[in-house]
Amino acid sequence: MITGHTKLYGIVAHPIAHVKTPEEMNNHFASLGYDGVLVPFHVQPENLATFIDTLRRIENFGGLIVTVPHKTAILELCDSVVGDAAAIGAVNTIRRDPDGSLVGAMLDGKGFVRGLEASAIDVRGMKSCLLGAGGAASAIAFALAEAGVNSLRIVNRSAGKAEDLARRVAEHYPNVKASAGAPETASQDLVVNATSLGLRDGDPLPLEDTAFHSGQIVAEAIMEPEVTPILATAREKGALIHFGRPMLRQQIRLMAEHMGVTPAKA
Ligand code: NDP
Repeated sequence: MITGHTKLYGIVAHPIAHVKTPEEMNNHFASLGYDGVLVPFHVQPENLATFIDTLRRIENFGGLIVTVPHKTAILELCDSVVGDAAAIGAVNTIRRDPDGSLVGAMLDGKGFVRGLEASAIDVRGMKSCLLGAGGAASAIAFALAEAGVNSLRIVNRSAGKAEDLARRVAEHYPNVKASAGAPETASQDLVVNATSLGLRDGDPLPLEDTAFHSGQIVAEAIMEPEVTPILATAREKGALIHFGRPMLRQQIRLMAEHMGVTPAKA
């Protein structure tokens, strides 16, 4: 029940109707017995700064989830950021501290790695291939590097974006062999699709090389459909497949932790 004690949280996006976070986060609050509610905010890019400034002044506001198209612009509107958010260049969760200051974090990639871990997949020492160099891919690239992959090959339609991402990862994680170029899937332990190819019916595979094999893990960021063309192909070839949904599930926990949500005391 919402009362005068209930703490407020939000998700901001444009458009907003498709977002799944309100349901997932409110279920998470309920599972913790936490007196909070998360509501959707539909905000146009030109109104983002005013919206954020208003949140600073709402005393019972606890935090904000940020999604498309605001993840990059919101970085500059935070008072501080933690983890790799500045290097990634995006924020997807903000905590509002009691003095009104806003602390950003980028948890997309960490959620992805935690999702793998929840399936007992440890990426340490793996040779990995990341398809895509957009927002989700950038976060996943940094999280895979932080988690200790041996190498990271980044493949993207716009080659310059892949090169830039590989350079930034190499700068921050010199122990990881980060490179950009053509896919080398046959020799990779882990292939991750973080492009948007597979979201729509009839989308082609995100890579021409379909040399998947048993012993290899092929993971997806896309949540719907659950089985995308790359996962279907990889499964046919005997690879172990990993769905996109666990990435969101784990992010919900990480986002709640960042926003200071704690289980109710017994
Ligand atoms: P972006 O728009 O930032 O990036 C899209 C990526 O897909 C780019 O690398 C882009 O390449 C590539 N791409 C798009 N169209 C094509 C095409 N026709 N051919 C080849 N490459 C293409 O999107 P996001 O990074 O935010 O999202 C990517 C995916 O990740 C989405 O499917 C989204 O649903 C999913 N996602 C899942 C989350 C989860 O919790 N499971 C969280 C966040 C995202 P180029 O650079 O050349 O344009």
